[in-house]
This record gives sequence, structure tokens and C-alpha cells, in this order.
Amino acid sequence: MADALVIGAGLIGACVARLLAEAGRSVTVMTAQGVADGATRRAVGVAMADPQRSERSEPGLRELLDWATRLRVPFREVAARWLPREGAVRLDDPAERVEQRPAALIDLVALSVRLLNHPAISLRQRIEARGLSRVGAQPLSPLEAVVSGERLLGDRVILATNAYAGLISPYLADAITLARGAVWVSRPLDPGELPALSQPVVVGHGRILAAQHADGRARVGAWRWEGAGEDPDDVTRRFIKHNFPEALDEIAYRQTGVTSVSRDGEPLVGQLPGEIGVLYALAAGPFGAAWAMPMAHRVLGLW
Ligand SMILES: Cc1cc2nc3c(=O)[nH]c(=O)nc-3n(C[C@H](O)[C@H](O)[C@H](O)COP(=O)(O)OP(=O)(O)OC[C@H]3O[C@@H](n4cnc5c(N)ncnc54)[C@H](O)[C@@H]3O)c2cc1C
Repeated sequence: MADALVIGAGLIGACVARLLAEAGRSVTVMTAQGVADGATRRAVGVAMADPQRSERSEPGLRELLDWATRLRVPFREVAARWLPREGAVRLDDPAERVEQRPAALIDLVALSVRLLNHPAISLRQRIEARGLSRVGAQPLSPLEAVVSGERLLGDRVILATNAYAGLISPYLADAITLARGAVWVSRPLDPGELPALSQPVVVGHGRILAAQHADGRARVGAWRWEGAGEDPDDVTRRFIKHNFPEALDEIAYRQTGVTSVSRDGEPLVGQLPGEIGVLYALAAGPFGAAWAMPMAHRVLGLW
């Protein structure tokens, strides 16, 4: 039996598992699909501090880049432009530039995979937890994930299941709200084809992100919280049409994703009420890359 059973192998679960392993714990990670096959794979891939909470999240960005360096995951440090008004932005006009923030373009999937590559971490993919149960009658008895066909046990369980946490705990269903996102991905563009995207662009306080990655593909994404705001597809289309209409013809495909956000936008890390030993790390929000390591440290602090 492992010291910790982490459910969910997105970026947050990978960071939690790695820090626990580095702290000398044995860790089993189980995940419903492959590693990072949830919101982490669908992200635009801009790692930058949360614009609403930049002072607290910026150290997390630096720490993530330290890990990427240590694990040899390539990334490019850049300054993200933060532009004032969605859908009404001329990228070639320096007067429109409000400010620049440190950011990096990073492969969050590769980083998650390498974080999980540690001798103290055992990874089980394509297994979905349908619930949790205790192995014994005592409140401190080990916990077991309810899965078909086998038993996965941990002294403690960490739920890093993002948007799906509510399926395991009604308390968490009430604590999170869902954000649905759409990311439009271009064919590989030659350098200079979209000069405005030489730096990532952030619009509408982070409701729209646009960036061109090392593979030459431009990715433009937007999301909306449950019940509020415009359809992210419409926002994205309008943004591209207004700012670089020539790119509309270059869109190769569109991907959608669901992620979790708390009611006040703060990431959620805590102990599940009434369930000793069950911790959660959820609602990293649209700037999850910068929050991932701070959230993982908070899990360790609750140990
Ligand atoms: C469109 C879009 C664009 C984004 N762009 C950016 C960006 O550019 N920069 C940025 O920093 N952030 C971005 N984000 C946010 C970022 O994707 C998330 O904050 C981050 O990926 C959350 O990671 P996670 O590990 O919590 O969730 P996920 O990556 O969703 O991982 C959760 C995992 O848990 C597994 N799981 C769920 N339930 C169970 C179960 N019962 N049993 C077993 N496994 C289970 C899932 O299969 C999944 O793999 C974006 C989000 C969206 C939707």
C-alpha cells in the first residue's frame, strides 16, 4: 500500500505526486485516461502568473520553470503582452500595450510526464475511481479507490480530478464551477507570418490567450465560466477576425476542454470535511501552470 494515492494525472496531480515522492513518500497515481489527457493537454500552453493574483502566483511560475529546466523540458521565456480590450485590439499599435508580464511557452504534457517519472511513483493509467471507501472500520483506516478489477490503496488520498471532482464528492461539486474552453490551432506558420504573435497575448484579464509555440502553430483560446459570458468559440472567432483575419484561413483544428474554477477564483486545496485523510487540490483555473507548484506545496503542508 502506498503512503499516498493521487487520483488524476494532470499537471496538478503530477506536481503533488512529485513533491510527495521527493519528500520520501511512496505514491500511486491513477488516472482515468492517459497522463495529462484532461485540461492540461487542451491548454493554450502559456505559463504566466494569474493576472488577478500575480504577486502570489508568480513564484509558482518561477518554480515550474526551475522544474522544467531540471527535467529538461524545453520552454521559451517571453513577455506576455496584456492588452486592454477584447475584440477591439490592434496588435501593431504600441500605444495599446498596457503592460508586459513574464511568461513562458511550455509543453505542459511533457512536463507532467517527466514529473511522474520517479522511482517512488507508481503510475496506473486508464483506471477511473468511482468513489472512495475505507479498508477498516476505524476513521484512520487506509483508503481505497473504488475501481473495477483491482484494489488501489493509500494511507491518504489526494483528489486532483479537476472538473470531475463532483462525481466523487458532493461537497466538491458545490465548491467548484466549470469553465468550458475552446482553443483554435493553426497549421504550422513560418516565422514572421504572424509577427504580432511573436509574444503571447492576453486579453480581457485572461479570458483570451494567444500564442505561437515552437512547433510554429498558433493557438488562440478563450473560456467561460458556467452560466456566464459568451460562447468561447464566438469570442475566439471575433478576436482572430478582428486582429489577424489572415489567420482564420490557417486554422487547422479546434479543441475544447473543461476545467474547474472556484467561486472566488482562488485555487482550492484542503481536507475533505468528515473524511479524514482525503485531501483535494482543484480549481487551478485558467492559469493553472503558475498555481500548480504552490498548490502541491499546500498539500504537503496539510500532511
Ligand atoms: C481551453 C483552456 C485553455 C487553457 N489554457 C491555459 C494556459 O494557456 N495556461 C495555463 O496555465 N492554464 C491554462 N488552462 C488551465 C489549465 O489547463 C488547468 O488549470 C490545468 O490543466 C488543470 O490541471 P489539473 O491537473 O487540475 O486538471 P486536468 O489536466 O484536467 O487533470 C485531471 C485528471 O484527472 C483525471 N480524472 C478525473 N476524474 C477521475 C477519476 N474519477 N478517476 C481517475 N482519474 C480521474 C482526468 O482524466 C484528468 O486527466 C486552460 C484551460 C482550458 C480549458
